[in-house]
This record gives sequence, structure tokens and C-alpha cells, in this order.
Amino acid sequence: MRLVLIAAALAATIASASAQDYPTRPVNIIVPAAAGGPTDAISRITALAMSKLLGQQITIENVGGAGGTIGTARVVRADPDGYTLLIYHVGLSTAATLYRKLPYDTRSAFAAVGLVTDAPMTIIGRSDLEPNTLKELVAFLKGRTAKTTFGNAGIGSASHLCGMLFMSRVQAQVTTVPYRGTGPVMNDLLGKQIDMTCDQATNTTGPIMGKLVKAYAVTTKGRLKSLPDLPTAHEAGLEGFELGVWHGLFAPKGTPPAIVQKLSTALKAALKDPDLVKRFNDINTEPMPEDRATPEAAQRMLLSEIDRWAPIINAAGEYAD
Ligand code: ASP
Repeated sequence: MRLVLIAAALAATIASASAQDYPTRPVNIIVPAAAGGPTDAISRITALAMSKLLGQQITIENVGGAGGTIGTARVVRADPDGYTLLIYHVGLSTAATLYRKLPYDTRSAFAAVGLVTDAPMTIIGRSDLEPNTLKELVAFLKGRTAKTTFGNAGIGSASHLCGMLFMSRVQAQVTTVPYRGTGPVMNDLLGKQIDMTCDQATNTTGPIMGKLVKAYAVTTKGRLKSLPDLPTAHEAGLEGFELGVWHGLFAPKGTPPAIVQKLSTALKAALKDPDLVKRFNDINTEPMPEDRATPEAAQRMLLSEIDRWAPIINAAGEYAD
């Protein structure tokens, strides 16, 4: 019995010493979407700012597919030692309902670290798509009985969610084309292999400004500063249609609280880094305020968003499995 107690005390001392020294080697952030897309961009900017503060390199590993659930499962299964983390978005919450057989319980799988940003979405099409306005687009989609191709990052992704909400709202159908992320969706849209998508402005601002794609609406309440001519979906005829894509940093459940706290402190500071602020602003998004870059705010968001989207998804009755 004494030996067991001594071993337990020793293990606790080692754990707290390693939490104090953390991180002593590079940290890996898994992004469950392809390189070159919006989640990837947000994660790389955040990782760079955090690595300066933590004094260790942070690598990004892109594990896309199945609406982010493959990469997410990798993080859930990883050792909870602070060296494998996840940056993902609202898709974590929608997948909890869309996938009836996930290999993890989203509500309890994580030690949340903090929220990173809330990115607007834009509805866009290839540059030579016939409609010029959102109203024309709706009429066009209705007249083509699912012939229009809509690229998304798989069932459970933000692009899937936006497309699903948009199509059910306008009572039209499209043929969805799933990718591992919207980086490759954008490549195919620029190459005119697909017709349209809905993606974070963090990925679409450049192509919209360069007139490489046709933009129909932004899903925020107000217009974006850098795209003043682009109407909000509400202004363009979809009353009240709003969608923001929150992104958060998560560790696997069981990560020592001292490590989670260290990461959250670094995240809060990173979100004030002038380089990060500028780079976020350049891609049309903003850092989360300090009081939301916390474990409590991120966990609350994850749970409340599962509850918010579940009835909407169940009403649509379309599941991934
Ligand atoms: N924007 C993607 C989504 O629809 C993911 C990505 O590639 O960042 O969820």
C-alpha cells in the first residue's frame, strides 16, 4: 500500500514538473482540413504567434476528409500531454449530429483551450457563372434541378453547413462535390471544374478582390470593410440569413490543467500579437476577444452549438452515415 502511494505521489510530481516545463519539444496541431484552405491559414497564423510565446516550434499537420472527423479522431486518440492539439471550427458541433457513429463523444472528448476567431462566410461561384446577383443565383439554381455543382469540405464542414442552410432556405438543390478541404475546392472553382461554393472569407477575399470568382453575398450582419460592394445575404434578399464560423483550439481530454492553462495564456497573448492581428484582418477575420480565448468559453461554445444545430440537422434528416 505504501509503495502504491509513493508511486502515485511520484507520478503526480513528475506530471506537475513536466507541466511546468511544458513545452520541451515541438507541438503538433492537427488541422482536419487540407492545406491551403481557410482553417489551415487561420491555424498557421495562430501557431506562429503562439510558438513565439511558448518558445517552441508548432507544426501543422493537415488531416482532411469526412468533414474533419478523421483528423479530429486522431487528436482524441493522441496522448493527452499537450503535444497534439486540434484547431477546428463549428464543424465539430455539427458532426456530432451528422455522424451517428463517431469514434468519440464530442461533448466529453476534449480539454478545450480557447476560441480563436469567428470567420464570415461568402457565397461564391466560378467567374463565368451566369447569375450576377444572389436573386439571379436563386432563380438559376431552381431552374437547373441539381445540375449545379457545389464544392464542399465533406459532410460536417462549414461549407457543407452553409450550402445546406442556403439550399433549404431557397428550396433548391445542387450536386455536392466533397473535397478534403476548401483549399482544393477553390482550386477547382478557379479552374471552372465546379460551379460554386460557400466558404470562409479567409479563403475567398483574395479571389473575390481579384475578380477570379463571382461573389454573391457575405453571411455577416454587416458588410465586410474590404469588400464594401458585396451585399450581406440579408440585404440580397435572404432575410436574417447569418452564419459565422467559430474556430477553437482543443487538446485531448485528460491533458493536465496546468498545460491547458499555459496554452490558453499563450493563445490570449497570441491573439493580441500585431502580426497576427494584421494577418487576420488581411483575410477578413478578427481575433477573438480575450474573455473568449478561454477553456470555459470554448467548451461552452462547443456544447451550445451541438444543441443549436442538432434540431436543424435532424429536421433536414440528412446524415453522413
Ligand atoms: N472551409 C472548410 C470548411 O468548409 C474547411 C477548410 O478547408 O478550411 O469547413
